[in-house]
Amino acid sequence: MKTKLSCSSIIFTACLSTLLGLTTPCTFAQVEPIIDMHLHALHANELGPPPLSLCAPFPIWPVKDTHEDAAAYFARVQIKPTCDSPLRSPLTDDELMRRTIEILRARNVVAVTAGDLDMVEKWKQAGGDHILPATPFDPESGKPTVDELRQLVKGKRVFAFSEVSSQYEGISVTDPRMEPYFALAEELDVPVGIHMGPGPPGAPYVMAPNYRMRLSSLLLLEDVLVRHPKLRVWAMHAGWPLADDAIAALYAHPQLYVDVGIISYAFPRKQFYDYVQRLIDAGFENRIMFGSDEMVWPDAESAAIDTIQNAPSLTAGQKRDILYNNAARFLRLKP
Ligand SMILES: [Zn+2]
Repeated sequence: MKTKLSCSSIIFTACLSTLLGLTTPCTFAQVEPIIDMHLHALHANELGPPPLSLCAPFPIWPVKDTHEDAAAYFARVQIKPTCDSPLRSPLTDDELMRRTIEILRARNVVAVTAGDLDMVEKWKQAGGDHILPATPFDPESGKPTVDELRQLVKGKRVFAFSEVSSQYEGISVTDPRMEPYFALAEELDVPVGIHMGPGPPGAPYVMAPNYRMRLSSLLLLEDVLVRHPKLRVWAMHAGWPLADDAIAALYAHPQLYVDVGIISYAFPRKQFYDYVQRLIDAGFENRIMFGSDEMVWPDAESAAIDTIQNAPSLTAGQKRDILYNNAARFLRLKP
């Protein structure tokens, strides 16, 4: 599937004021384009009653005493975490959408935007070319059905299937219930983004009893990729922290990509840079894509971009590859 980036979105022009009849020179700042493979269009209360807070990053993960109630632990992680200047979530759906789209515009971002179709279409209406609509499939409920997804793709209402969050249901990518969806995506050449990596700390005790960290291994994708050699899959959250498995899978399956997801802004910074560097040192700087995993904290979009742009160990070329070039190739965007 192909799409075009509008020219107007490529160059951001800052033109300063006219004062007392004297026109001050305009300054033209070119903001290089960014593709975010991992934005969510959620309701403001989808992760719990707002406002929620999030550390960007968490310097140390909170420890849970076995006597502590799971909800109380969650509150310490996601309602009132301990860190300097946590991000704060907006109170309403409209504010969440408006502030996020403002950042997309200001930072020249086109985002693969995932969620329930009604939300994604609302964001598309508000965000125009900045939004590439995506919706997931759920192998547990069987919704949407394969036929429904086929119609959505043919009607150009859906550009990708993401974020497939079967890991939270304890369902591996090898589960037979995934198979009809993979076959459809391969047939229609639709990119599929699958959550393979961390959930919130304590996820199995708080919000997803069947979540299992071991389903983060990118080696689980092997049989799927071999069975569907034309399938375009990207692993969201890059299979963190199983770098050996990620490197092995990226090596043997040269069509596989990853996005950096939440590890880019919420995880201890040195760990994130080390993880990305391991993939780069192994020869895969051309398959790491930027993905913010912005959920209900609009400023997370900027925090994630800044983490890449300020990375001390990445070259300018590697930053452009991660922020734009790799995703443009994967999505088959026209220049
Ligand atoms: Zn996500």
